[in-house]
Amino acid sequence: MIELMFDHGNTGSSCAPNGHELNALLRGPGRVPIAESEMNRPAPRRLSALCGATLVAALTLLPGSIVGPGAVAAGAVVPSARLAPAGARVMVSPVPRRVALDRRVVVRGQVVDGSGAPVGGSGVEVEVSTRGGWAAVPGSTSVADALGRFRLPAPTFYYGRHVFRVVAPTATGTAVSPSRAITVRTPFRPAGRAGAGRVDPARFDPCTAVPYRINFSGAPGNARSLVAAALHKARAATGLTFVYAGSYAGIPFSRQGDGGLPASGIGFAWTTPREVRGLAGSAIGLGGGWTSGRRRTSSGVVIDRTFHYRRGWTGANSIGGLVLHELGHALGLEHVSDPQQQMYPLDIGAPHGDYNRGDLAALRRIGLDAGCL
Ligand SMILES: [Zn+2]
Repeated sequence: MIELMFDHGNTGSSCAPNGHELNALLRGPGRVPIAESEMNRPAPRRLSALCGATLVAALTLLPGSIVGPGAVAAGAVVPSARLAPAGARVMVSPVPRRVALDRRVVVRGQVVDGSGAPVGGSGVEVEVSTRGGWAAVPGSTSVADALGRFRLPAPTFYYGRHVFRVVAPTATGTAVSPSRAITVRTPFRPAGRAGAGRVDPARFDPCTAVPYRINFSGAPGNARSLVAAALHKARAATGLTFVYAGSYAGIPFSRQGDGGLPASGIGFAWTTPREVRGLAGSAIGLGGGWTSGRRRTSSGVVIDRTFHYRRGWTGANSIGGLVLHELGHALGLEHVSDPQQQMYPLDIGAPHGDYNRGDLAALRRIGLDAGCL
């Protein structure tokens, strides 16, 4: 069954015209009043900060009758060069044990046959160990040269300890290298509790690049770089690969066909409460998408462009924090009660301007570590 899921975003799209509504929301069950929030809390007298206290928190699940888009193409990509002969082996160089995010670490190696003679021209690729077995890393492919030598990037684009190997397809199976391990450190100390994150089990296939599109109509001038920066943080947290697929005219969760979501991947748009009814009232962003069984097929993030955001990634009502929150929903994250997480439903500003400990644990569960779909 195809379902359309979306939820209301962090904060009010407009300040309550009087203090009554705002205070009532502050006292709502299960909410942490801003005065009790952690670091980065807004100054209580600032209007924009008080706006941050309003929210609509519930995750709304709407049964949909619209047939969702087809599943994205799945499967590992292996160069269709010559297959290495039976008995071939792959030798690889050692790698550093611990590295920083995105540090370029080259894995050098050679494909040889059973007698140790070099085998040139075979396809090689990096696979990482996941809960579902070995998984190909999108884009980590190459072809061995005439002497069987190759250079491939180690998987340093996402956090955690990654056990990986290099494989080469052969006529009778797959030649594999000894496994290597590399740990990618988080460049900040994530705040909060590891168990704070909650996820919907439906996820994008991490073994296929996820395309994304942006509707620039009404978007801020830096929309492209803003979305790319948010996706870079999501990639670091999940191991998912995102590729820009161009602009589009859709507005997620509007009355457009399929709710304004792209045919596959994630669509981003800035719009008004008139165009997206879910943004009326106190919500200023929506995120979510289509799922089919365990697979997330297309998602959307829509931001209320009539709201006056702060620039940057930290503090209440920052545009970066809002995009990260709604992107979290688009990937499958749900609201949490830990106020230090990006997925806390009050826009009080998560520490570090990034996903924190609970967010990261939840994102890991729907990323490459979970294996291919
Ligand atoms: Zn939310």
